[in-house]
Amino acid sequence: KLVAVALLARGTQGIPRSSGLPDDLFVHDGQISKRPVRALALSALAPRPGERLWDIGAGSGSISVEWALCGGTATAIEAREDRLANIRSNAAAFGLAHRVSVIPGKAPEALAALEAPDAVFIGGGLDSAMFDAVWTLLAPGTRLVAHSVTLETEALLGDLHQRHGGELMRVEIAHAAPLGRFRSWEAARPVVQWSTVR
Ligand code: SAH
Repeated sequence: KLVAVALLARGTQGIPRSSGLPDDLFVHDGQISKRPVRALALSALAPRPGERLWDIGAGSGSISVEWALCGGTATAIEAREDRLANIRSNAAAFGLAHRVSVIPGKAPEALAALEAPDAVFIGGGLDSAMFDAVWTLLAPGTRLVAHSVTLETEALLGDLHQRHGGELMRVEIAHAAPLGRFRSWEAARPVVQWSTVR
């Protein structure tokens, strides 16, 4: 859990102020919003100091950690037991254990007893029933950002955008990688982001 601290200390001093920290600052099992996509998530979530985030399908907790770094508190909801330890360890490595609470279980059931948020990120488990349940829990003015990588969730986001407005964006990122003696673009799976205000 000291990996993050050690890496942050390497070379320069202090911690970057921008969101989209390197993936290897977080303990994860591959299920993590990658750096550029995470930066886009935080940009859309627009954290202000003192605000509360629900991070639904928190995975590694990287979104919760970056939200808390901006001065807010995050509630990380994660269905898979084995990922809860990663979230706790990432929050602790950044000195943010007091600002990130971990809720084991599945949304929407796990949300019932939580204090209302200022913003919600849905990074996993989104379907129409879950959306309806979450939406009714939110006060007007709450910001909601959802990411999808599957065609099924993408179709749902297209539908929700039509019904509720907001901004729908598709992000296609490619990284330069070796191709024989040359380099070529290696495309990541497209991510669709829907952001709106309740
Ligand atoms: N944004 C995360 C990655 C999310 S991966 C990060 O940066 O690390 C999606 C996660 O959603 C998975 O860990 C999966 O276990 C979780 N998940 C799926 N359905 C869920 C549900 N209904 N409630 C809570 N978590 C859920």
